[in-house]
Amino acid sequence: MVKINKNYAKIKETYLFSETAKKIAAFSEKHPEIQVIKMSIGDVTKPLIPEVTEAMKKASEEMGTQKGFHGYGPEQGYDFLKDKIKKYYEQYIKVNLDADEIFISDGAKSDIANITDIFSNDNIIVIPDPVYPVYVDSNIMLGREIKYIHGTEENGFLPMPDPTVEGDIFYLCSPNNPTGAAYSHEQLKKWIDFVSERKGIILYDAAYESFVTSGAPRSVYEIEGAKNCAIEFCSLSKTAGFTGTRCGYTIVPKNLIFDGFSLNKMWLRRQTTKFNGVSYVVQRAAEAVFSDTGLKNIRKTINYYQRNARIMTDTLKKLGISFTGGEDSPYVWFKVPDGMSSWEFFDYLLNGCGVAGTPGSGFGNCGEGYFRLTAFNTYENTVEAMSRIEKLLKK
Ligand code: PLP
Repeated sequence: MVKINKNYAKIKETYLFSETAKKIAAFSEKHPEIQVIKMSIGDVTKPLIPEVTEAMKKASEEMGTQKGFHGYGPEQGYDFLKDKIKKYYEQYIKVNLDADEIFISDGAKSDIANITDIFSNDNIIVIPDPVYPVYVDSNIMLGREIKYIHGTEENGFLPMPDPTVEGDIFYLCSPNNPTGAAYSHEQLKKWIDFVSERKGIILYDAAYESFVTSGAPRSVYEIEGAKNCAIEFCSLSKTAGFTGTRCGYTIVPKNLIFDGFSLNKMWLRRQTTKFNGVSYVVQRAAEAVFSDTGLKNIRKTINYYQRNARIMTDTLKKLGISFTGGEDSPYVWFKVPDGMSSWEFFDYLLNGCGVAGTPGSGFGNCGEGYFRLTAFNTYENTVEAMSRIEKLLKK
């Protein structure tokens, strides 16, 4: 008889987005005269830039010709795209990579979850709380032991190495979803030293690197020693509006050799076995992001979201509410008024002024009592939402 992976029963049903959607729908039905502003949007809203859509059109035309047709491509991505990413790292992040260290993916989520394949089940996994839920769930599915390190107001939601929480695989997300906080060079150096000493590995999620404006690291490889202990995941989802187009990349340095095994070779083996590559059309679209005009145009979109984030943080400053994020990230994270839970504040905000956000408790126990707003709505809606919030919370 088939044996089921019962670890799936241990995954918490988050209900987060379905529950918020349900509450918003119920509110709108009761108050059709109020336009609910969703500051809970976790997806981009601006369209793809013209360089990208042109590249997609051209690539699809090519695919309809005998000469330009492409069948299976290399599982790890076409050289034309890997070379562009290599140059991007050299030019804008000041990091040198070998093209064979770059693996093109259909987005960061799959690679972050699939990387678990190359590590044994007896590793101890260390994960920050609150955080992007995929790290936790993908390890629970395998029955792995997870230890949590706590993001709190005291550490600015940037947990640092804790010698009392020993582990082998350490997940870091910077700039962070949901808190928007970003590690400094000095903080990351401490992490790299700590993990290297233990011959462990950092799985570094840099999905929001393009939002960094404070001078915080955009790549873990900006820090000395990182190529000996870190894998980096990146995504074009928030950088270039690829949430529906699907493309990302993972860096597995060749220096990563553990127990005589090269992680780079193992990941290549894993991908060539279980993944058949990203479509030619999408890789041409991704290539266009890294062209000179492409990079200029995606910056305009990122600047638009960042202007929204500034409006949000300005309002919180005016209200004397402490927050993280907004500067290096499209997320703003703040403490809800005393005595309220994250969900109570969700209801209070929705019923009090028709604005929806995301309860922090949905991202981990340490998120209880906090709230996330995102900068992905329109400028006009963001201005209106923040003025409604200001009026409500000033009372
Ligand atoms: N990592 C973080 C921290 C995210 O917030 C997200 C998406 O919200 C992802 C990864 C997934 O990105 P992708 O769309 O490339 O799968």
